[in-house]
Amino acid sequence: MRILSNVTKHTTKLIGRHGAMIQWRAGANKEEFRASCEKAECIFMLEKDGEPATIYMDPVSGETINEKEIQLIPGTISEEPEYLHEDGRILMKVDKCFALFGTPMLGAFEWDIKFPERLGIEGLRKAISEAPRYADRARGALVGNASTMMSEEDMKEVDGEIRGAGMHHILYDHAWRQNPWILEFATASCNHLQDVRDAIALGARQCSLVMPQSLIDRYQGTMIDGFFMNQCPENVSPAINCINCGGRSGPLCDARTRSGMVVMFEQHGATSWKKSRSTKIRNIAGKAGVSVDAFQKMIREGDRPAILSIGLKAMSRVTKATAKKYRAFLEMS
Ligand code: SF4
Repeated sequence: MRILSNVTKHTTKLIGRHGAMIQWRAGANKEEFRASCEKAECIFMLEKDGEPATIYMDPVSGETINEKEIQLIPGTISEEPEYLHEDGRILMKVDKCFALFGTPMLGAFEWDIKFPERLGIEGLRKAISEAPRYADRARGALVGNASTMMSEEDMKEVDGEIRGAGMHHILYDHAWRQNPWILEFATASCNHLQDVRDAIALGARQCSLVMPQSLIDRYQGTMIDGFFMNQCPENVSPAINCINCGGRSGPLCDARTRSGMVVMFEQHGATSWKKSRSTKIRNIAGKAGVSVDAFQKMIREGDRPAILSIGLKAMSRVTKATAKKYRAFLEMS
């Protein structure tokens, strides 16, 4: 069985400063992780015919839209960008997968050669045996999709090992159309609302959906085919993440113990507005010669005079074209 497991105590995003969690991956090296996502035909890989692509999508139907038919209203310091179809529909720009192109893949070079003891079901057992007693949950297929690498029998074995150790099991899978058996074990990773409807019709117990925050705000608290739409609590509270989500009842993304929910995540990959907004703020702070933290504090506190003063300083040190962009971003009239 081509899986690779470890216990992590370091990823603050995932587990907080004092937690520990079992992680297992579908595949045992970078090439296998990537092959898994290719098999799932994942839109977040952002490639068309092997070339990098920018994809715009109708978040309701999943229809991809030609860039020429889109009106872009650029984002500012307080507003997300808007992508409008010429017929009035609100669209979204598809983000790059955070797992495949972000930190979860970094450093995964030749893991199967460097850490043979972490491979297969024995590697998972070892990770479980080495986990601190307070670690009460595992997260699977951190990168990749288990259903493209494993049989249903393999999956039963892995899930059984984890639950047999008294742990919750967080798992997502993008390849549920190709391998619907995975819906018994995993939250169905969906790209748009029609995907959610299709996954529910196929038997999904939980679904997940990645969208811009403005769309999440629109759908938060609504129902879709009997499922409640709810933003991941980690997105909205610095005190919650996968290590404590759901308390004793267990994490929301455990599809075997939870049901009837669409967990929504704010886009957080390399091409998300969240990342691009942070980069702009960092650049302006750098040009103005102030620390990013200080500038962020002014923004959080809505201190317009201070923000404008920083903006003017930064604008005096860049080209006219960049100054124009800074002016629009900082909403300076
Ligand atoms: S809903 Fe809970 S389990 Fe799922 S990703 Fe968010 S914090 Fe983790």
